[in-house]
Parts: sequence; C-alpha cells; structure tokens
Amino acid sequence: MQAGSARRVSIFGATGSIGQNTIDLIARDPDAYEVVALSGGANIARLAEDARRLRADVAVTAFPERLHDLRAALAGSGVEAAAGPAALIEAGARPADWVMSAIVGAAGLAPGLAALEQGATLALANKETLVCAGPLVLETARRHGARLLPVDSEHSAVFQALVGEDMAAVERIVITASGGAFRDWPLERLAGATAQEAAQHPNWDMGQRITIDSASMFNKALEVIETREFFGIDPERIEVIVHPESMVHALVGFRDGALMAHLGAPDMRHAIGYALHWPERRDLPVARLDLAALGQLNFRAPDDARYPALRLARRVMARGGLSGAVFNAAKERALDHFIAGRIGFLDMAHLVEVVLDRFESDPGLIDAPMTLDTVTQTDHLARQRVDAALAKRAG
Ligand code: NAD
Ligand code: MG
Repeated sequence: MQAGSARRVSIFGATGSIGQNTIDLIARDPDAYEVVALSGGANIARLAEDARRLRADVAVTAFPERLHDLRAALAGSGVEAAAGPAALIEAGARPADWVMSAIVGAAGLAPGLAALEQGATLALANKETLVCAGPLVLETARRHGARLLPVDSEHSAVFQALVGEDMAAVERIVITASGGAFRDWPLERLAGATAQEAAQHPNWDMGQRITIDSASMFNKALEVIETREFFGIDPERIEVIVHPESMVHALVGFRDGALMAHLGAPDMRHAIGYALHWPERRDLPVARLDLAALGQLNFRAPDDARYPALRLARRVMARGGLSGAVFNAAKERALDHFIAGRIGFLDMAHLVEVVLDRFESDPGLIDAPMTLDTVTQTDHLARQRVDAALAKRAG
C-alpha cells in the first residue's frame, strides 16, 4: 500500500466476538487503516475505548438510551457519538472501502445494505443478512458494483476452494458442523438443557447467541441457507456433516470426483483476515495445524432427530420468498425465550415450525416482493407470532 492511501474501514458489531477479532487484526497495522465507524451495543466502555484508540470518525451504540453515556465516554476525543437503528444506517452509508458486518441478528441487515449502496466491500459475518434477504442483498450489491465477501468460516472455506474454479464444475458443497455443546448427550436429556449449558462450545469461542444456535444446529441451518444464497447452488447439492474437531471447515466436490477441503485451526481471524486482505493472502496470527499431533479427524452424518433445525432449513429453501425472514426472526425470538428460561431447548424448533406453518397457509405474506420494508415487517410479524404461539400454549 502506498503512503497516504490508508484503507477506510467500518466495523459493525465491533464490541462482539467477530468485531474484536477484526480490531485485533487492524490494530496490528494501524497505519494501513483509517477507521470510519465502529458500532456496538450496551458495552459502552469497550466501544469508546476502541473508538479512541483507533481514532474512529464516529461510534454508534444500537441503544438510544445509551447515547448520553457514549457521549460522556468519548468527551474530548474528537470521535462523534450516535445511537439507534437510523444512526447505524447513516454510519453504513459513510464512504468506506471495507465494512465488517458483525452485528448479531437481523439488525445487521439494514446497515449492511447501506454499505453496499455506497459501493463498499462488505465482509459478511452476519449470516442473517443472506438468510433474511439473500436476493435483495445480492441485487443491491450488483446494482452498486459492490462486493460481498464471506466471513463465516465454512463459507470462507468454500470461497477459497473455489478460487480459479467454475461453479458449473461443482457437484456439491459440504459444510462441517461441530455438533455443538450437546452432540454427545442422550436425546432424553435435551429437553431439560439450560441456556448456560448450551452456551459452552466445544471448539469455538463465539458470542452467546451463535453458540446456543450451534448446540441446536440452528446455526448450521442458517448456514445452509447462506450457502445457497452466496454460491447460488441448488439446495440438494448442499450437505452438512458433523466433524467434532472443527479443523475441516468445508469441502467442495467437483464433477471429476475431486473433493477440495479447507483446513485450519478454529480461529475466526483466518476468515476475517482472508476477507480483509482478499484477493491477497497475508501473514495472519493463527495457529498452524500439526497433523501428526492431531492424528485423526472424525466425520459422521447429522442425526435428524437430534437436529430438527436442518429439516426446517430445507423447507425454507424449498418455499423461498420471505420464508427465510420468517425462519430467522422466529428463531431469534424463540432463542430470546430460551435464554430467558421461559421455554425449553427443544421448544425452540417447535415454535419456529408452528410459525412457519402459519405463514405458509398465508401465501400473500410470504410471496410479497422482497424489499427492506417487507423483510422488516415480516420479521416483526414472525416475532409476534412466536409470542402468540407461546401464549396460546401457556393459556
Ligand atoms: P456477539 O454477540 O459477540 O456480538 C454481537 C455484536 O452485535 C455486538 O457488538 C453487539 O453490541 C451488537 N448488537 C447486538 N444486538 C444488536 C442490535 N439489536 N443492533 C445493533 N447491534 C447489536 O456476536 P458474534 O459472535 O461476534 O457474532 C456476530 C455475527 O457473526 C453473527 O451474525 C454470527 O452469526 C456471525 N458469526 C460469528 C462467528 C463467531 O465466531 N463469533 C462465526 C461466524 C459467524
Ligand atoms: Mg460458521
């Protein structure tokens, strides 16, 4: 990079697990980057400290009631403070070369779209963006000449295995799943599993919500849909395999029988760094695999009885339209209830299925044209319907 040509970067969800890993990489080479916007939630101290250290133009908290605290924490720093969903979109629209989308949940969609609309490269950790609104997001990127790069480890792995290849030669994509916290629990025990137990991931250190989604395989269900949208591959060509070690992240099978696997230590800084430096490869501070020390890698088919979320993802892909937005929002709301201790672990999939059933009997809603407004309205309605289904069960 030439002197004076620092890359302008923004990080949405900067205070989270992916956000902090992104900052770790950027802070190793501070002169190479000019930080435009950082966003966070309730952790104002973290957000303000990083915004000061990285000399961001603006720091945004998702929560308007925390604006006062953020202003106080940034006093005298020259960093602008802002808050709320509209401020996130405004920050996404500020010119940047590279934007990390690492908010958790559907809240990541609107700022990501704003970033694409101004032509930025969007590094997508927020898989919900493609699950809720894949066609809209891809069309927005196309229209504005913006690029999407995958950050989810499986999708980054597939993307790397496809360099120099033609999608027409791809027979199948196989994404791996650790199996989550309960992979070895007897099925009878799952009904009584707590959020605290589900939040213990065997291999990856991630935010609480995605860790619980790993235990239920809702995370993998979202990723199957993300694979379909990102790579434009037919659903029946996407496979999930349980791989307890999380060393192989994904495999791409070609028509000549070759299967290209991507291996690496379970450290998200690899996928983040690949998206940051793409199309180059640069040194990254990740552990190197010692295959002899590993000795063996294991694979097994996912058990449908244990992981109903995978079946629901197939149903969503077959249905299309706004059913991805329904699926994601219902899952998010069911997860809220599980975390709050109001429902059991297995109730999450039940509630999501009940809500999918209701929307499918109402095609007018699911087949509405996909815009940010219709996706947002569908998302809200799906959350309300989860609450209604729960109230009905209780009453
Ligand atoms: P996290 O919970 O650690 O961080 C989430 C971030 O989003 C925080 O900065 C939080 O303040 C912000 N946030 C939360 N609710 C918000 C809202 N309503 N509006 C705006 N901001 C909000 O989550 P994470 O593990 O870093 O995951 C972030 C995204 O990346 C998720 O979509 C997840 O599925 C995806 N992802 C994460 C990993 C991982 O290793 N952590 C791997 C692959 C994909
Ligand atoms: Mg993943």
